[in-house]
Amino acid sequence: MTQYIFVTGGVVSSLGKGIVTASLAAVLEARSLKVNILKMDPYINVDPGTMSPFQHGEVFVTADGAETDLDLGHYERFIRGARMSQKNNFTTGSVYDEVIRKERRGDYLGRTVQVIPHITDEIKRRIHAVGEGFELVIVEIGGTVGDIESQPFLEAARQLRLEIGVRNTLFIHLTLVPWLKTAGEIKTKPTQHSVRDLRSIGLQPDVLICRSAETLTEDVRRKIALFTSVEERAVISLPDAPSIYQVPVMLNEQSLDDIVIEKLGRDCASANLSEWRRVTDALEHPERTIEIAIVGKYLDLLDAYKSLSEAIIHAGIENRTQVDVRYVDAEEIERDGCGALQDVHAVLVPGGFGPRGFEGMIRAAEFARENDVPYLGICYGLHAAVVGFARQVVGLDNANTTEVNPNTRDPVIGLVSEWLDRTGRTEQRNGDEDLGGTMRLGEQRCLLDASSIASELYGQTYTMERHRHRYEVNNGYVPALVEHGMAVAGRSDGDRLVEMIEIPELQWFVACQFHPEFNSSPRDSHPLFRGFIAAANRHADAQRAQLAGVAHMAPPGVPLEQAVGD
Ligand code: GLN
Repeated sequence: MTQYIFVTGGVVSSLGKGIVTASLAAVLEARSLKVNILKMDPYINVDPGTMSPFQHGEVFVTADGAETDLDLGHYERFIRGARMSQKNNFTTGSVYDEVIRKERRGDYLGRTVQVIPHITDEIKRRIHAVGEGFELVIVEIGGTVGDIESQPFLEAARQLRLEIGVRNTLFIHLTLVPWLKTAGEIKTKPTQHSVRDLRSIGLQPDVLICRSAETLTEDVRRKIALFTSVEERAVISLPDAPSIYQVPVMLNEQSLDDIVIEKLGRDCASANLSEWRRVTDALEHPERTIEIAIVGKYLDLLDAYKSLSEAIIHAGIENRTQVDVRYVDAEEIERDGCGALQDVHAVLVPGGFGPRGFEGMIRAAEFARENDVPYLGICYGLHAAVVGFARQVVGLDNANTTEVNPNTRDPVIGLVSEWLDRTGRTEQRNGDEDLGGTMRLGEQRCLLDASSIASELYGQTYTMERHRHRYEVNNGYVPALVEHGMAVAGRSDGDRLVEMIEIPELQWFVACQFHPEFNSSPRDSHPLFRGFIAAANRHADAQRAQLAGVAHMAPPGVPLEQAVGD
């Protein structure tokens, strides 16, 4: 029978419930268990697809094209045995949507439709669906205990425990144990209250994970155990970690996996965490440091670039490099020029939507092209690179994407349905019509040109990557782009849309229409990011060598900066 572990949070949000969930899954997987993960979100939006990146952070796209909570990204980065799909994340809104649809269809035969049992039954049905084929499912319940919104989820979990038995379920509660500076003391009261809230709805936690700045003393753990009726050994102290990738090892060191396995009555091998130790070792002992710029437009909430910043860390692990990221606002470049990019070792322009900041992204791509600084463009970053190239190199001064200027004379990027109407060129549509105006979502095959940097990095001539965009490179302009030195490095299978471009005469200028960051993990970094960071390292070496060469030529006594100039 599939067993279920529920993870709830108390006291405050942002305690890292998603990281703890993913890390516990990683440790259990390292004990050879087949583990899946589910995130239940309490908000009414049917999915996060239309939510603002400023409010909700990144939308994580699964291989099957679901637009999900960014926690699913953590899950995929921590485990290998399960791929996230649209089943692995659902919201209150989607549950109500389904129940109301069934009610309209007459499925409930005229009965009064209520939270209990109809909503809770639908929640349980979805929880069981994730369990099929797995020994264990860890269910993360979004929000904080005490919120009105998450109550149906907690009630469904309570019912599920009754139905499948105490032995087959486990409740883990994550709380904050703050340090009060004025009192000079650790405070356990919020944890006591939060557990009391849980118990008032019939849930006694089996394990408490206490987040704090420093490790809790035994006395504090004993006190928490006494007041919450949780075994003392199951009161786990989880202090702030320098990296999220240390959490699996930290949880294992406190025997959380032993406790879980014992309480669920399982018998399995001890955890092999050697790969995680390798990851943390690489993070702690980088051999060098470089700095790259990310030129974006959602900088007020860096969670909007979560998978991206993690993918860079993963590539750093692989290259034994600490990669410092300078976030540069694309609108700042529009106002002040590319000064902020002057001394970075590489430039990355990530995905984005809408006109704001697009000109700044174009300039960042131009800066990289003109100065031969390694460039990685992702989705909107590819559009920026192509538009800039069309304007400056091909000479189409008014080139643009129709997302920014629907009336541009040269729509080098546009909706597939617009190509024929606007350019009058002879591109065949090959059944692409359904792409017009709708989002291209999820994993699709990309065929790589054998002579490209990309195919060398991937080590093969095709790849499967995830998409989330509407606009495409207009095939009508491809011959002109190619004639002027841009190469099409990847095309989609069948419909032959441009998936990747490169500029072969530069050292490393690569852009892709898909989002490689969704396919990167600390143990398996993504080939494109790995290649990008390696190129940035080479660029940094060349810069240093040049600097040293000039210094060598400088007359004695002349400061280096003066000799090099600015
Ligand atoms: N806004 C662009 C489009 O819809 C790019 C999207 C993205 O960067 N994910 O095509």
